[in-house]
Amino acid sequence: MTKHHTELVVVGGGPGGYAAAFYAAEKGMKVTLVEMDNRLGGVCLHRGCIPSKSLLHVARLIREVRESPVRGVAFGKMELDLAQLRSWKDSVIDKLATGIGLLADRRNVTVMKGRGYFEDATNLRVETDDGQQFVVFEKAIVAVGSRPSIPSQFDLGNPRIMTSDEALALEEIPEEMLVVGGGYIGMELGTVYAALGSRIVLAEALPSLLAGTDPDLVRPVQKSAEAAFKEIRLGAKVGSMATSGKQIGVVMEVEGKSLEESYDRVLVAIGRVPNCDDLGLENTRIQRDDRGFIRVNPQRQTDEPAIFAIGDVAGGVMLAHKASKEARIAVEVMAGEARQFENIVIPAVVFTDPEIAWCGLTQSGAKEMGIEVEVAKFPWAASGRALSFDRTDGLTKIIIDPSTERILGVGIVGVGAGELIGEGVLAVEMGATARDLAESVHPHPTLSETLMESAEAFYGTATHVHSRKKKPEPVE
Ligand code: FAD
Repeated sequence: MTKHHTELVVVGGGPGGYAAAFYAAEKGMKVTLVEMDNRLGGVCLHRGCIPSKSLLHVARLIREVRESPVRGVAFGKMELDLAQLRSWKDSVIDKLATGIGLLADRRNVTVMKGRGYFEDATNLRVETDDGQQFVVFEKAIVAVGSRPSIPSQFDLGNPRIMTSDEALALEEIPEEMLVVGGGYIGMELGTVYAALGSRIVLAEALPSLLAGTDPDLVRPVQKSAEAAFKEIRLGAKVGSMATSGKQIGVVMEVEGKSLEESYDRVLVAIGRVPNCDDLGLENTRIQRDDRGFIRVNPQRQTDEPAIFAIGDVAGGVMLAHKASKEARIAVEVMAGEARQFENIVIPAVVFTDPEIAWCGLTQSGAKEMGIEVEVAKFPWAASGRALSFDRTDGLTKIIIDPSTERILGVGIVGVGAGELIGEGVLAVEMGATARDLAESVHPHPTLSETLMESAEAFYGTATHVHSRKKKPEPVE
C-alpha cells in the first residue's frame, strides 16, 4: 500500500481547488491536488463558464451578422459546421487546461488523478487507475463542486433529455427544444441554441425570469429573448416527460391548463446539487446543511477544524470567482492570517445578449431589507458608444446611500456589462462615493462613461441626460 504524506491535500481541481493548491504552494506548503477528471479545471473550464462563453461569443457573432444589412453590410446565409464549432470550443478548453497543468508543475503541486474519499480526518483514500493510494495529510480543502440537479421524473436515461453538461457537448442542433428553467444557465444556453437555429420554448415555474435580479435589468434581456425564442412561458410547471419515438413527450401546466407537447430535445436547467454524497464525510466531523452543502464558518473551516470547504460544495453563490476567493481565504487562515469571507463583494454576470451584471446591494435587495437608498440611472440610449454599435438596449444604475453618498451597489444591463462591472466592484469594495465616480474622467466614447454619468445623474449634472438636481455642487 502506497502512503503519500502531504501538508495540504486539496480534493477537486476546479477554480476553487486549483486556486487553493497554487496559492498554498506559493506560500511554501507541500501540496497534493486530487482530481478525478483527466484534466484540471473543474466544471467551470470543462462544462461551465468557458464552453458556454465560447458558444455565446458565436451566438453574438451570428446576431451581429444577421443585423448588419441595415448598416449596408450583408454576408449571405449562415452555414453551420457543427464539428468545426465543437472542435474550436474544445481547443479553447484544451489551451486553458494545458496551462493549468503546467502551472501546477511549475509550483511543484503534486497532482494525483483519482477519486478522493476521506477514511478519517487525516487520511484520504484515492481510487486511481493503478489502484488505491493513500494520502496522509495535516490539512485538507474540499473543493469537489456541484453537478446538475435532475428530478427523477425527468431522469429517463434518454440522451435527448440533457443537462448543461450534455448541452455544452453540442451533439446536434435540435429543431424544437424545450428549456426547463429560466435561471442564468437556461437563459444562456437557450440563447446559444436559438442562435444556432433551434426553436426554443423556455418554461419557468416562477412568475419572472432570472429570479432575484432587479426587474429593470431583466426587461431588456427578456425582450431580446422573446424575439430570439419561439416562446417564453412564465408560471409554467413541467410535470412529466416520456420517450415518444425520436422525441420527448412533455406534460406541462401553464395558467391552469395542461399542455401535452413533443420536443426533439429538452434541457433541464433547474439548479445544481453539491458533490458530497460519496466522499466519506461521515468518517469525519464534517456536517452538511439542510440542502446538503458542507457547513463552514466564515474562515471556510468545516466542523472538522483541519478540513476546509470552498466553492460550490460549500453553498452560497455558485460562481467560479467566489470559489477562487474562498480558496485564498482558506489558505490564508491555514497560514495563520486573520481572514474571513465576510463583506466581500462578489459580482454576478448573466452572459445573455444583452448581458446583466451587478455587485453589492441590489435595488430589490434594498427594498426587501427596508434599506433607504437613492438610485441613479443612465439609459444607454443616451450613450454615443452604445449608439455607435446599435445596442442602446442597456441601462447602468448605481445604488447610493443618501446620507453618505457611498456607492452600495451597481447594476448594469447591456452588451459587455460583465466587463463593466469590475469598476463597480472596485467602487463598492473601496467605499467610493458617487462624487468619486462622477469626478473620475472616463474615456469617450466608451460604455464606461455610463457609470460616470449615472453618478453625475445623482447630482443632476449628467451631460447626456437631464435629471432633477438632487444635491448642491460642492463648494471648491
Ligand atoms: P468545480 O468546478 O465543480 O470543480 C470540482 C472538481 O472536483 C471537478 O473537477 C470534479 O471532477 C472534482 N471532484 C469531485 N468529486 C471528487 C472526488 N471525490 N475526488 C476528486 N475529485 C473530485 N461561474 C462563473 O463564475 N461564471 C460563469 O460564467 C459561469 N458559467 C457557468 C455555466 C454553466 C453551464 C455552469 C454549469 C456553471 C457555470 N458557472 C459559472 C459556475 C461555475 O462553473 C462553478 O461555480 C465553479 O466551477 C465552482 O468551482 P468549484 O471549484 O467549487 O467546483
